[in-house]
Amino acid sequence: MDRDSALPDRCIACNEPAEGHRLRRKLHCSPAAWKVGASLTPFLAFLAATWLDLPKAALAFWPLVIVAVVANLFVRKSLKFEVGVCKRHEEQRFALLAISWLCFGGIFVGAFMHPVFMLLALIGLLVVLALQSLLGGVQALRLADLTREHAWLAGAGEAFRATLPELN
Ligand SMILES: [Zn+2]
Repeated sequence: MDRDSALPDRCIACNEPAEGHRLRRKLHCSPAAWKVGASLTPFLAFLAATWLDLPKAALAFWPLVIVAVVANLFVRKSLKFEVGVCKRHEEQRFALLAISWLCFGGIFVGAFMHPVFMLLALIGLLVVLALQSLLGGVQALRLADLTREHAWLAGAGEAFRATLPELN
């Protein structure tokens, strides 16, 4: 689609009328290899340090996370726009958001307490991410690519996509 064009007043997930209920979203895209590498490195470093019994090396976890987050701000491209969303998918979004924050909290606490907690929270987070793409809700919407004129959206509901041939 044209990156400045507005999306219709329909739920991006199920294509039901959104009745003017819109959600402001800022989508980012960064290269897939970078995303995987940057998000795994701190965990691998932490687990390796725990494994090798190097408590000082485990302290590298948070600096590595911060470096990855800051570097990502420069690597990614972003686009702000509004999408329609129905009440059902809005509620689903809140529920999944709450669970993923709980898991983030678990990872944080686990890093100070025991790597097993951290691992469990990480698994929980991955389950939430898998659920998001399975349920195909609002949060499944991704920015596949972005150029000066066009934006490629991915993860919108099938019914919604069908009404917008240019999204295919
Ligand atoms: Zn919906």
